Amino acid sequence: MTSSEKPTEETTQASTQQPVAPSKPRPLALSPSRAGDYQQCPLLYRLRAIDRLPEPKTVAQVKGTLVHAVLEEMHKLPREQRDYPAMVKRLKPHWVEMCEQDPDLNDLVPEDQLYDFLVECRSLLRGYFEMENPQGFDASDVEMYVDTVLPNGVPVRGFIDRVDTAPTGEVRVVDYKTGKKPKPQWSQQAQFQMLFYALAYWRLYDQIPAQLRLMYLKVNDSMFLKPSREQLEYFERDLADLWAKIEMDGKSGRFRTKTSKLCGWCPHQALCPEFGGVPPEYPGWPGSTADKVSGES
Ligand code: SF4
Repeated sequence: MTSSEKPTEETTQASTQQPVAPSKPRPLALSPSRAGDYQQCPLLYRLRAIDRLPEPKTVAQVKGTLVHAVLEEMHKLPREQRDYPAMVKRLKPHWVEMCEQDPDLNDLVPEDQLYDFLVECRSLLRGYFEMENPQGFDASDVEMYVDTVLPNGVPVRGFIDRVDTAPTGEVRVVDYKTGKKPKPQWSQQAQFQMLFYALAYWRLYDQIPAQLRLMYLKVNDSMFLKPSREQLEYFERDLADLWAKIEMDGKSGRFRTKTSKLCGWCPHQALCPEFGGVPPEYPGWPGSTADKVSGES
């Protein structure tokens, strides 16, 4: 997962961080999060993916980042060192490292709240260990960066938390979730993410993962999916439709608003015309990572 597109994005609680200047535009590619943004609201997509406006980090996000970092480290250790007490001890050093890289985290989780914060992270690690025994297998990859252009021209990228390969050669793609498990009627986004990574993996390595697993550490529960070739081909066509809409909006600069209950959590509400705001001047279509492949400028 890219640091900006890690699957720990949970826009639930605003922090008190001060905004900083937006980052430079960079060639676009679809990730599960950005696809979800466009589906939720095209203007939200624009402000995040094209304007790249800064957003305050949330406690939920950094909790997810911390737990992911510990699990990533764990799967690189020899089997006998992968145990719960040892991993709990790794929380604090990883947190210190994160704070060194981003001192604003000290304000987001002040010293007097750090103990409770680490206890919550510990309980997420406990959830992980209750679901599987990491001493029983070796991951074939962790934090795998996928960045490719699908045969239909859709640029995709993102990070896969973990890839396991069975002795028989079958591949399992695993993603950790530190937020709540969605109710069945809201699980489309989770399924979308699983299919997205299965498709990217298939197109990169010419092998369809036999199993996709989302591990919800908070509730010790998983969601499984066994993707078929037809399902992935169908999904690939859906992605092409979605990308075509994004490109059309991106080239015209017209991104419509789409209000929903989620507007209450939108970090850019103050810039939204639906709420009396004015979006910044459109910086222009930055192109996509597929343009290099197709030779477009
Ligand atoms: S407030 Fe709602 S409509 Fe406006 S940009 Fe955010 S998600 Fe879109």
